[in-house]
Amino acid sequence: MKYISTLKLDQIPGRPLAASDTFDFRCHAGLACFTQCCRNLNLFLYPYDVLRLKQNLGIESDRFIDQHVDVVLRDGHHFPEVLLKMAENDQRTCPFLESEGCRVYPDRPHTCRTFPVEQGVLFDAATGGSTAVSFFRPPDFCLGQHESQQWTVAAWNRDQEAQRHHTINLRWAEVRRLFENDPWGAEGPQGAKARMAFMAAYNLDRFREFIFDSSFLKRYHVQSALVKKMKKGDEALLTFGFEWIRHFIWGISSAQIRPRR
Ligand code: SF4
Ligand code: SF4
Repeated sequence: MKYISTLKLDQIPGRPLAASDTFDFRCHAGLACFTQCCRNLNLFLYPYDVLRLKQNLGIESDRFIDQHVDVVLRDGHHFPEVLLKMAENDQRTCPFLESEGCRVYPDRPHTCRTFPVEQGVLFDAATGGSTAVSFFRPPDFCLGQHESQQWTVAAWNRDQEAQRHHTINLRWAEVRRLFENDPWGAEGPQGAKARMAFMAAYNLDRFREFIFDSSFLKRYHVQSALVKKMKKGDEALLTFGFEWIRHFIWGISSAQIRPRR
């Protein structure tokens, strides 16, 4: 999922898909291209992708980050991008690719689920509104585009169980777009605030410690039902983390986080 705010729709490659548009596609192990798309990728991971992958692998978030991602802050950007590290072999295969296919398949990233449809959200700076956009963009080698199974974007998302990723990534997109202007000031993008924001989005097990093992809950009132949910599951903690970033970095008020007086 891309978060598009500066490009115009007609500058984006691929065939735009409106809600009622259809595309033909079927991927299966019998195709000569099977797993070719799992090599040499710039595969962006969003916070919910990292949550699902670290759960699938049974490891904590900081170990996942150390072992499996490159964190890249591009020139002119104020929040880093997180890319899955490819294996160091000739073909730069995805580290989760095995001879039978994807070893993390139930928890594969959003981009892998919706491929070859790229989904994003277009923000309108003038109105503050946003529009979900989708593009059919199979690479030439992808033979699935010549199969005759027909989909709409919604049917494809259902089939690939991508709705939860889509919903949470839209919420992340709302946070992410706030980073278009430099929020760090003199402390810069390596400072304490930036490290806090990255932890709340990507390093969930350490964020959990920050919430539950520090004075946080003495300093902020959080509804007890939400506290319970966060104790039980990573997903509630992650979406709380998005609220916390907005509050901590920009002072945006949240019904979920009330400073105690
Ligand atoms: S290249 Fe296309 S058809 Fe082939 S395995 Fe990948 S997604 Fe499926
Ligand atoms: S995570 Fe799975 S589906 Fe995605 S590139 Fe890696 S092996 Fe392929």
